[in-house]
Amino acid sequence: MADPTKHVQVVVVGGGFAGTYAAKELARHGVEVAIIDTNGYQTFQPMLYQAATGITAVSDIEYPLADIPKVEAIKDTVTSVDLANSKVTLTSGNTIEADYIVVATGATVNFFGTTGAAEFAFPLYTSDDAVRIGQRGKQLAESGENFSVAVIGAGATGVEISGAIIDTLYDLYPRTFPGFKRENVTVHIIDRGAAPLAHMSESSQKYATEVLTKADVNLHLGRGVTEVKSDSVTLDDGTVLAADVTIWAGGLSVHLPSIEPAPEVDSHGRVIIDPDLRISGKTNAYCIGDVSADRKSPLPQLGSVAKQQGIAVAHAIRRQLKGHEPKPFKYEDMGTMAMIRHDAATVDIGTSTHTVNGPVAFTMWLGLHAYLLPGEEHRIQAVRSWAYEQMTGKSKYLLK
Ligand SMILES: Cc1cc2nc3c(=O)[nH]c(=O)nc-3n(C[C@H](O)[C@H](O)[C@H](O)COP(=O)(O)OP(=O)(O)OC[C@H]3O[C@@H](n4cnc5c(N)ncnc54)[C@H](O)[C@@H]3O)c2cc1C
Repeated sequence: MADPTKHVQVVVVGGGFAGTYAAKELARHGVEVAIIDTNGYQTFQPMLYQAATGITAVSDIEYPLADIPKVEAIKDTVTSVDLANSKVTLTSGNTIEADYIVVATGATVNFFGTTGAAEFAFPLYTSDDAVRIGQRGKQLAESGENFSVAVIGAGATGVEISGAIIDTLYDLYPRTFPGFKRENVTVHIIDRGAAPLAHMSESSQKYATEVLTKADVNLHLGRGVTEVKSDSVTLDDGTVLAADVTIWAGGLSVHLPSIEPAPEVDSHGRVIIDPDLRISGKTNAYCIGDVSADRKSPLPQLGSVAKQQGIAVAHAIRRQLKGHEPKPFKYEDMGTMAMIRHDAATVDIGTSTHTVNGPVAFTMWLGLHAYLLPGEEHRIQAVRSWAYEQMTGKSKYLLK
């Protein structure tokens, strides 16, 4: 609980990848920092697929912000950011004044106004979303009836959630529900583009198509969705596909508290930032992670970008505290990976593509996810737990 009004050197709004790394790095160097998050924990989004499909426990992907050493963690929602007076106001009515403000409130789903989507489709951004998808899947699998799943969007999220669903259909459900058979379930992926993983190389797209097709996933490419109902989706050519559960993996919007004076935003609503990560034209206000975009070279909405920006913002503020100007942020591109199934992944590094399968794919995945995790203790615990589940093929969790 925050004091009704207080002052700190830095207030960080949002405790995702970007905010967590910023707060941790600032506190490590003795800067007084408060981090505010609606949930009070960081959600490790790259593992939402596994949580939604019962492969990982939900508690394994939520990290309490109170665990960050020497950081004041406040569970509350920031309703407004006053840049002129350098303060934020919370839902509780409390205000926090700060010498520096870092906005890192992340992304959320965008249904693009599709009829029925907000009501019937399941997004996948939070652990609550993962729990809802998991419970629906379990309910359908337990029923013993045939059912269909539609995944809308064949980008990284759509492909990876489809892969996790397939792994569950082949492994967890048959072991858990007597009488359940893979053949009971039809899986559709729908996308307007010509291939899955549009953001990756042609060879990665080809590999994803092969793996998904081999697992009997029906790909509907070059097609949009015009309506979602509780038991179907309608495509823009009039085709109606049965869908007992529809997962929305297409389209991004951002979380943004009211900011005064209003910053410039791009066509996705992301705050335009200068190369040094400051809100354009502001001297003591930064915006990082998924909610921000550099005017000239917007970066992809990725955990690796958010993590690097979090660390960079801490350096920038420390420079300012010493009377220097911040330096421009430089992203170190570590390549793009998509985990299509637990034993099939594709990685683009520079202009080359590496398709990997079996234990090598899993080891790369483990390395990347461990890199993103916040803190040694979480890293060790999670790696041990994921390694056991994936390498033995014995998923331990099924959402209650
Ligand atoms: C399903 C899925 C899978 C992904 N897989 C990968 C992957 O494999 N590799 C990869 O690099 N990236 C992946 N990403 C992307 C990655 O998770 C995001 O790029 C990253 O989380 C962005 O970090 P962030 O800190 O900007 O935002 P977030 O992690 O979204 O954090 C924002 C935080 O702000 C809080 N918040 C929002 N509004 C307010 C407010 N007004 N007041 C207080 N708190 C607020 C939220 O509660 C949240 O905790 C994935 C994303 C999803 C959804």
